[in-house]
Amino acid sequence: MMDVATNLRHIRQNIEQACEKSNRNPEDITIIGVTKYVTIERTEELINAGIKNLGENRLEGFLDKHEYIQDKAIWHFIGTLQSRKVKEVIGNVDVIHSLDRVSLAKEINKRAAAPVDCFVQVNISGEESKHGLAPDEILSFIKKMEVYSNVRVAGLMTMAPHIDDEDKLRKIFRQLASLRDSIKAEQLPYAPCNYLSMGMSNDYQLAVEEGATHIRIGSSLVGS
Ligand SMILES: *Cc1c(COP(=O)(O)O)cnc(C)c1O
Repeated sequence: MMDVATNLRHIRQNIEQACEKSNRNPEDITIIGVTKYVTIERTEELINAGIKNLGENRLEGFLDKHEYIQDKAIWHFIGTLQSRKVKEVIGNVDVIHSLDRVSLAKEINKRAAAPVDCFVQVNISGEESKHGLAPDEILSFIKKMEVYSNVRVAGLMTMAPHIDDEDKLRKIFRQLASLRDSIKAEQLPYAPCNYLSMGMSNDYQLAVEEGATHIRIGSSLVGS
């Protein structure tokens, strides 16, 4: 297994290339190191290599890692979050990437002491196995967030299917970017919607070319 610093160097080079192609600034892209496959030791290695943002998709993994790493990292919850478990993460999590229902927003609003940055999860590809709202449900869903003052819609998130078809992937990322633009144009004070959380190990270069601001990388960074 490659050391994390070497993997990170490769990933940063790929991001730079993607930014050159698309006329973007690498500083506008946040790498979230997804640590769900790895130990606390490996997670610490990741932090020492310079990664500040960590992502976990399960409550148990999140709590285990958070107990050791604490506020040496900015914490992203990237997986499905059950409403009854919100109270266990709130206060320790900085960003939630999987807001996909009103009941979850309600619970976040109730438990949080201050506004929490949330990404609304969109199911662009229409795969049944993927979580998230359909694109045509997004605007009305986001408008419902107005009453939840502790929920701040920071952006949109999607998970692309695990395929190698570049055109299909690009199309998915473009659709999410254009949906983000349309929400942003509404200028809703509770939904600035500046960010796009898209791209994983398999497809982050394409996601960056299409406007990703947050990429969530696990296996190609820390191994799996
Ligand atoms: C696991 C996971 C990732 C990272 O996946 P890799 O393909 O290992 O980079 C990103 N986002 C979510 C929501 C995940 O669950």
